[in-house]
Amino acid sequence: MLPYFTGQFGNAASQIHSFGRNARDAVEAARETLGQAIHARPQDICFTSGATESVNLAIKGLFHAGGKVPQHFITVVTEHPAVLDSFRRIASEGAEVTYLPVDAQGILDPRLVAGHLRPHTKMVSVMAANNEIGVRQPLDEIGALCRKHNIFFMTDATQAFGKTALNVQSSNIHLLAASAHKIYGPKGVGILYCRRSRPPVPLVPIIDGGGHERGLRSGTLNVPGIVGFAKATELALAEMNTEQARLQELRDALFEMLQRGIPGLRLNGHPEKRLAGNLNVSIPGIVNESLILALAADVACSSGSACTTAAVDPSHVLKALGLGLAEVHGSVRFGLGRTTTRAEVQHAAQAIVKQVQNLRSQGAG
Ligand SMILES: *Cc1c(COP(=O)(O)O)cnc(C)c1O
Repeated sequence: MLPYFTGQFGNAASQIHSFGRNARDAVEAARETLGQAIHARPQDICFTSGATESVNLAIKGLFHAGGKVPQHFITVVTEHPAVLDSFRRIASEGAEVTYLPVDAQGILDPRLVAGHLRPHTKMVSVMAANNEIGVRQPLDEIGALCRKHNIFFMTDATQAFGKTALNVQSSNIHLLAASAHKIYGPKGVGILYCRRSRPPVPLVPIIDGGGHERGLRSGTLNVPGIVGFAKATELALAEMNTEQARLQELRDALFEMLQRGIPGLRLNGHPEKRLAGNLNVSIPGIVNESLILALAADVACSSGSACTTAAVDPSHVLKALGLGLAEVHGSVRFGLGRTTTRAEVQHAAQAIVKQVQNLRSQGAG
């Protein structure tokens, strides 16, 4: 990224001089890398400021392209707030939106989607992997259903991108959102994959101006951010299989140590169909905020989602699994990543068990 902050100062939209062309070439190389990562054509990759913007553009853009005719959308109650709030917005403007439930392990049954289709259903939007409990949804099945009924299929793949294989062709995905900072890239850059053939997905832009990104998203491109996103993608894909296997082993070890040390501890989400780096558990007899505070100097963990600023709301995802309020308040999420070592996992497990015993003995939690 560094050369594009300093020496390579050209604007990717200025084509006449070589400075602009250098920046443009870097952006187009990045577009190629990101397209390949999801088996998409580079021209179908639109750069944005992050997944929140991508999701807003996809949902609002598709609805606004549909005009005044009735339009029905299907999504899931456990989606990220960027998706849920975008649907809430278009619902206030006249869209019909169905929010499907998940089972006790957080998985959507594709038969539910089939059962809720209407003649004017326009799009189904289901996240690839959940940000709180890590569960992975059956994209292939839902994509096949959408193909059969000629409905657009969108997936918020922000958690899955770079960690699991994604293929917009075989999964029949028309719209896909991802973000650089979830794979160790820079903050403030993302993509929206928007298929522009067989049939093209019509989107009305949210940001108008110079017509950048084929008219989908105007504004001077964040060249260093885009270059960084592509590099982060390359690194993530190169190590994906070995790294995910390593994380899964560490995550399972952490779970076993916690289970041994904390009677009553329970896993939230499907035991197998989930991301390797996620562990979300409910601990009876404690309040998560107390545990998180007690651990803060030593272990960074979180209650529910990091993405809502009003962190006091109990997790909508855990409630959707059917957990009672006490279980939701006793739930903690641990994330394991590239820098996590076995020694750290052992240390964290000991610290967590000790603090839970403390809190339980105080009876305060
Ligand atoms: C982080 C996240 C987002 C938002 O991404 P930003 O790039 O931070 O806007 C959207 N969806 C999911 C599933 C996420 O995990």
